Amino acid sequence: MAILVLGGAGYIGSHTVCELIAAGRDVVVADNLLTGFREAVHPKARFYQVDIRNKAELDALFEQEKIEGVIHFAASSQVGESMSNPLKYYDNNLCGTTVLLRSMVEHGVDKIVFSSTAATYGEPERIPISEGDATVPTNCYGETKLAMEKLMSWTSRAHGLRYVALRYFNACGAHPDGHIGEAHNPETHLIPLILQVPNGQRAKISIFGEDYPTKDGTCVRDYIHVNDLAQAHILALDYLMQGGENNVFNLGNGVGFTVKEVIDVARKVTGHPIPAEICPRRAGDPAQLVASSEKARAVLGWKPQYADLETIVSTAWNWHKNHPNGY
Ligand code: UDP
Repeated sequence: MAILVLGGAGYIGSHTVCELIAAGRDVVVADNLLTGFREAVHPKARFYQVDIRNKAELDALFEQEKIEGVIHFAASSQVGESMSNPLKYYDNNLCGTTVLLRSMVEHGVDKIVFSSTAATYGEPERIPISEGDATVPTNCYGETKLAMEKLMSWTSRAHGLRYVALRYFNACGAHPDGHIGEAHNPETHLIPLILQVPNGQRAKISIFGEDYPTKDGTCVRDYIHVNDLAQAHILALDYLMQGGENNVFNLGNGVGFTVKEVIDVARKVTGHPIPAEICPRRAGDPAQLVASSEKARAVLGWKPQYADLETIVSTAWNWHKNHPNGY
């Protein structure tokens, strides 16, 4: 029996595939390669170029492979784009997942772990954020992810499917062996953009807002290493296989860093002065997002291995300096 990883050619998906294979699992990857990279897929995984909105392709895959559980990363994930093109987000994230669940139900595949996000909370009511806190997304990306969680819940009631939603905080870093890492086009995330400066691809980094109610006025985020996220997916799948009930878990280190602190860490890691410029706020950015991941630690036994930001940024730098243009 194999694990099906949808979106396994993307950033977090490719790292999870790598960890699954390292753990001796049989892995099938499906990805439409619109934002993922074929080169990012582990050579021991069986690859299918499939779009989750295409039911015939999915059905054929479920008929060809014996799938015991699904890990679902296949989604659009840029906050800014979701605001200008919400229909794309509803189509790919929500309609795509509807097609996927229909195919799973029809083929008797009843376990799914999937990517959710801290963006489901919107402006948090308290820090650190717990899973039971209010979910009022401030952007369309978070709204579609929350809708995916609800879709899973109703499908579970009707068809007995079981799910785990993993609400990631700020995914970052790269595989410590340096062979896979973060590659987005266009890049919008803070750490890869900062590292474009020492890589000679950007003159300076923009700081979006210096007037937030935080210790230095810049936004606070909880940065979590991609391999730690990958491990959480494996633990969540095992939890479902052992009969665990539907659940939602935050995944973060529980420590917040300001944008200026992240830039300082990158200066230290790269030895480059990395000039920075204060710019206006970016629309839709909450001042602080920091996770309580106590539940994932207690229920799944999850323990992040890369809790130190300097180590995290070092793994990212190791990837970007050797792959300045991605794959
Ligand atoms: N950010 C920034 N400059 C950039 C990119 C991001 O100041 O060029 C800030 C952004 O406003 C946010 C934090 O860095 O406060 C993390 O942003 P990112 O897009 O990496 O992740 P998000 O928190 O939006 O998921």
